[in-house]
Amino acid sequence: MSTRKISMDSLCVKEYKDQRSTRPHQLPIYATSSFEFDSMEEGIEIFTGKKSGHVYGRYGNPTIDTVSQKLADLEAYGTGLNAYGFLTSSGMSAISTIVLSLLKNGDTILTQGDLYGGTTEVFVKVIANSGIKTLFTDLTDLDATEQILLSNRTVKLLYLETPANPTMRCIDILQISRLAQKYGVYTCVDNTFCTPIIQQPLSHGIDFVIHSTTKYLNGHGNSIAGVIIGHDEKIKKQIWTTLKLLGTTCNPWDAWLINNGLKTLSVRMQRHCENAMSVAQYLETHPAILKVNYNGLPSHPHHDIAKRQMKAFGGMLSFEINGQLSKVIQILNKLKFCSMAPTLGDVDTLVLHPATSSHLNVDKARRETNGISDGLVRLSVGIEDVRDIIQDLEQALR
Ligand SMILES: *Cc1c(COP(=O)(O)O)cnc(C)c1O
Repeated sequence: MSTRKISMDSLCVKEYKDQRSTRPHQLPIYATSSFEFDSMEEGIEIFTGKKSGHVYGRYGNPTIDTVSQKLADLEAYGTGLNAYGFLTSSGMSAISTIVLSLLKNGDTILTQGDLYGGTTEVFVKVIANSGIKTLFTDLTDLDATEQILLSNRTVKLLYLETPANPTMRCIDILQISRLAQKYGVYTCVDNTFCTPIIQQPLSHGIDFVIHSTTKYLNGHGNSIAGVIIGHDEKIKKQIWTTLKLLGTTCNPWDAWLINNGLKTLSVRMQRHCENAMSVAQYLETHPAILKVNYNGLPSHPHHDIAKRQMKAFGGMLSFEINGQLSKVIQILNKLKFCSMAPTLGDVDTLVLHPATSSHLNVDKARRETNGISDGLVRLSVGIEDVRDIIQDLEQALR
């Protein structure tokens, strides 16, 4: 029987392989949910891990893996560690995936009270349902933290965020990692506010770093994703298993957007830091401002800790307007240049009013004891000409 050419109907269906091109100069987006094998033997080798290769998009993809490794290399830069990275579908899924990889029913997370709101919520409303408890304490109080580790042997993870939102309180990363090592407890730092350009927790002995790459790492406000970075090879397999089974993998399009953002991360961060310092100094002398929370100001209570563990002071700050809520709202409504958007780390300057947004559900007394008054405003200082940012604040405060 002579073989017939495939029909026109089938030709529509068939994928045309492009093997004619020279190598792409820039990372392509691999929009494919699965990968082909040349032979059964090759398939078996890849499935059994004898040969590296991709199988199915939820398990990994060349675009995603390339960006994950770049982020791991940045976090581990200069430490001599062989770090790995896993890109996730969001910062939140990076957090749930690492916690569910490390902890089990009966274990406890020890953390601070002023975490990113979503993190507190996922710990107490979702992770708690798996029998994993969360204990909140003041991690700047090392004696109190050690007392808890001494008396509660169910603590398996010390989870921290420094500087914390929106008061920029800092936790001493080196001291916490030493304590954790003494008691055999894992450590994880949410490094979203700093990026590895400013702070490298792995260099202070931390086990895992997570990010919402949605913020500075992408930098352009056009993707939602996260990353988990570690260097413990034994745990790597467990994280991969959790990730692929929960399906919290990132998608190649968002990975590609992060890749674009990373090219300018270093220059962006430098400009964010310079601009934030100028804005902080301007606000500190303004008569309508009661207080400025910026790690770069010697007046910040944690300026010294920040100087020890941060290479620069970042682009985030908050300040307290002297006045009632109605006056604060009136002032913020006058801003024309700065945008009102509930995110951070974009190239443009963003304003957020914690009392009426991120901290809306925290009762007023508790809010105020944590330094979050009705007058407190958070600023994610952008990379524009700083004179335009200050001019806008000036006219609004007038
Ligand atoms: C935004 C943010 C998260 C959550 O990240 P998503 O990408 O929104 O899921 C976690 N931690 C910090 C510090 C954040 O700013």
